[in-house]
Amino acid sequence: MAGNAHSNSKMGYPIPALFASHRVWKEMLIHCLEERPYEACGLLSGRMGRVETIWRMVNVDRSPVSFYMDPEQIRTVFQAIQERGEQLAGVYHSHPTAPPIPSKEDIAYATYPEAAYLIVSLANKQPTVGSYRIIDQRAIPIPVTFFA
Ligand SMILES: [Zn+2]
Repeated sequence: MAGNAHSNSKMGYPIPALFASHRVWKEMLIHCLEERPYEACGLLSGRMGRVETIWRMVNVDRSPVSFYMDPEQIRTVFQAIQERGEQLAGVYHSHPTAPPIPSKEDIAYATYPEAAYLIVSLANKQPTVGSYRIIDQRAIPIPVTFFA
């Protein structure tokens, strides 16, 4: 049930757009390309919903079709995010050969309703990114706006 944009109002959560800097966006794409053929994964943080910092995470699965972040590394990065006075704003991973649509597993394991879920597809020549909120086991597409 990915991507029913018409049901937002029933959710009861705010569904804000994601504001990102081009620098972070570009680095996210580079990370995903570098990890190919495996899925890359990482976190984005910022202030007031503006993504300013990227945190490359280790894909413990080292797999072309799945990712898993080490809970220890997540704890360390969350600590660092807090020390910067930032909040978690996004969770990204790549689909080396699949479209930028959340898989059943992506939705099942999405645990941060306040964060944007970004999926970078490398299936075509140019990377394409899908942006979602995943709330109550449903993926809702959200717009991305760049501020710098
Ligand atoms: Zn996925």
